[in-house]
Amino acid sequence: GLPIICLVGRPNVGKSTLFNRLSHSRQALVSDFEGLTRDRQYAEVLLDNDTQTFATIIDTGGLTNKNNLVDSSIQGQVLNALEESDIIYFIVSSRDGVIGLDLEIVSRLRKLKKNIILVCNKAEGLNPALAAEFFELGLGEPMLISAEHGQGIADLIDTTLPLL
Ligand code: GDP
Ligand code: MG
Repeated sequence: GLPIICLVGRPNVGKSTLFNRLSHSRQALVSDFEGLTRDRQYAEVLLDNDTQTFATIIDTGGLTNKNNLVDSSIQGQVLNALEESDIIYFIVSSRDGVIGLDLEIVSRLRKLKKNIILVCNKAEGLNPALAAEFFELGLGEPMLISAEHGQGIADLIDTTLPLL
């Protein structure tokens, strides 16, 4: 099958907005309300026209620390999606900086031994120097994007293609 890219991160960082941007659709539910995306959403996306490279992207419900990570069905779905994935986009918000939940999630993701790309969303108008704090996540340089405004998406795809 196609390589799988899984979009994960805590609620409200813009996973569904990025999913929409990548899939050129309104298929994913974008919401201001935390945790509204209950179901995994899939789309087969043409990432690169020249090489006709396709991937399946999966939008996931947010990882939270409100419910028990092992028992909750949502967390279970997220973990299943992660197991299947070839690449993980770990999405954080430049508006919030690194918060404790991001650190918890990254330590879980690391155990999966998958390729993880750190995606710092809501970065429109951001001074790139202010993104330095995201290095503390230990995932290298953050890809600065604005899912809403379509900025940094081409660079994100360019970074992704060699890993597929
Ligand atoms: P999810 O919970 O991670 O799926 O987040 P959503 O995609 O539902 O987005 C949560 C909120 O962040 C919505 O109000 C979006 O409009 C907003 N948002 C998403 N991407 C961006 C962005 O690039 N810049 C800004 N300023 N807001 C964004
Ligand atoms: Mg969502």
